[in-house]
Amino acid sequence: MSSVNIAIDGPAGAGKSTVAKGLAKKLGYIYVDTGALYRAIGVYAMRHGVDTKDAEGVGALLGDIRVELKFIDGAQRVFLCDEDVSEAIRTPDASMAASNVSAIPAVRAFLLDLQRDIAKKNNCLMDGRDIGTVVLPDAQIKIFMTADVEERAMRRYKELQEKGINDSYEQVLKEMKERDFQDSNRPIAPLKPAEDSLIFDSTGHTLEQSIDELTALIGERV
Ligand code: C5P
Repeated sequence: MSSVNIAIDGPAGAGKSTVAKGLAKKLGYIYVDTGALYRAIGVYAMRHGVDTKDAEGVGALLGDIRVELKFIDGAQRVFLCDEDVSEAIRTPDASMAASNVSAIPAVRAFLLDLQRDIAKKNNCLMDGRDIGTVVLPDAQIKIFMTADVEERAMRRYKELQEKGINDSYEQVLKEMKERDFQDSNRPIAPLKPAEDSLIFDSTGHTLEQSIDELTALIGERV
């Protein structure tokens, strides 16, 4: 029997990961955060002193990079050359590095099979930017989740504060706008809704409201 795949795309801070984790739990599916893969490559490049916008420089590193996703007690962990970098990839620098390397075609090609392979073997909710458009164009359900940029920045600001990262709200907002622009305007796999995706705007919703509404929407289709 083939697996059930649900694609969830949208900009940073739209609530994709929190909502998708809640939904995955309800449905008994695994939750796959593909942003972690781009973050791991960005971190690798930064650690090796390579400009994350330098396509040739980053491309030359790919032969040495091993990225793996492991699902431990239902939670995803990301391994970079056998090191668990699940926490190290969550800094603001890693966010921008991920956005930079993700615009490099060789990087996207490098990560494609890994993502498809997980989806083939598991019922999953896969979260990213191009899951419905490129990675899993045949996903049974596609959701494009968004929210006003100020609200997304506020959510991200609070998350960072909880982790002890004290960037100002203005700084977080500025970087979010920059990342949105970069992700939406790149020539390869830009952030955009698939033609057959459901658009879900989480502005003004609590987490529980978003999970309940999406569970109802998905329930009608699975
Ligand atoms: O989702 P997250 O914020 O962790 O993603 C980090 C960056 O990785 C995004 O800003 C985007 O540039 C890139 N990304 C991507 N395609 C995906 C997932 C993430 O280009 N499927």
